Amino acid sequence: MPKVLARILDGSAIAAQIKQEVAEEVKRLAAQGVRPGLAAVLVGHVPASEIYVKSKVQTCRELGLYSDLLTPPDTVTTEDMLDVVRGLNDRDDIDGILVQLPLPRQVETKVLLDAVLPDKDVDGFHPVNAGRLQAGRPALAPCTPAGIIEILKRSDLPIAGQHAVVVGRSDIVGKPMAMLLLHENATVTICHSKTRDLGAVTREADILVAAIGRPGFVTPEMVKPGATIVDVGINRISTREEFDRYFAGNAKRLAGFEKRGSTIVGDVHPAAYELAGAYTPVPGGVGPLTIAMLMSNTVRAAKMRRGL
Ligand code: NDP
Repeated sequence: MPKVLARILDGSAIAAQIKQEVAEEVKRLAAQGVRPGLAAVLVGHVPASEIYVKSKVQTCRELGLYSDLLTPPDTVTTEDMLDVVRGLNDRDDIDGILVQLPLPRQVETKVLLDAVLPDKDVDGFHPVNAGRLQAGRPALAPCTPAGIIEILKRSDLPIAGQHAVVVGRSDIVGKPMAMLLLHENATVTICHSKTRDLGAVTREADILVAAIGRPGFVTPEMVKPGATIVDVGINRISTREEFDRYFAGNAKRLAGFEKRGSTIVGDVHPAAYELAGAYTPVPGGVGPLTIAMLMSNTVRAAKMRRGL
């Protein structure tokens, strides 16, 4: 029997579509004299954070949003940071506040995130937004899980009635993911490091979301053939041994790996994708949606704050 190829869910194309819609909405708002604004707070010089924030600010520019970048030094205290956040809470030109994580050790991250005005919390990390999300009220939902729902819907993949298994229970990905899938009428199971016989649970999944933070953790034996696999993981690997474990025989990947000295692998072993009905690749799957949804949340926050 010929092998049926799994459908690749092109996150970059879906993100581009969402950004296009956001740009159109920004134009409509401009006609009403409203320009949504995002403030990004980037502390110190963490290279990955600098790349992420640069790309967020750049995307704001492309879509016509106002953006402001604040860069406190890495010696900043919790009190200094609270002053920065409170200042942004009070500014009328700022609709969304993004505090790039991780913060230096001396800054109390939770205290700081709780200080962001819930209506400007475009990352959806504030407990008020987590509560609103759970209660099914209008909320700013965390960008990555919100983006995953967009991928599933815009790819016409059914959610209602499906058994969705989410591996990972972080406040940023796993928990809000489970809640959003529940609101879409999936039957949801949440797994974590204490789950017994994880493979037996994941094999029941029609939709399997892997948000674990371990390279290639989900192996083919853990997947039901035909399932939709959403691979949230971003893990950088840099040894040839690791490369061969995940990508042996993949000449295109090898060329990139040799050029850059590293590559990224998801939380799902690439061999497991082959069993899927559809899957999000890494890179180019879930990742691009995160920034697109941040833009979308900022416009939403701008409208909600003005009662539009
Ligand atoms: P966290 O480290 O906060 O959470 C990981 C979760 O995985 C925890 O709930 C943990 O369980 C669970 N876990 C760890 N080991 C196992 C195991 N052996 N079996 C079952 N469950 C396990 O990570 P995040 O949620 O922040 O991120 C997850 C992944 O997604 C990372 O690779 C991250 O880089 C990526 N990511 C990607 C984004 C994107 O834009 N594409 C955005 C955000 C994250 P327990 O709670 O019991 O410890």
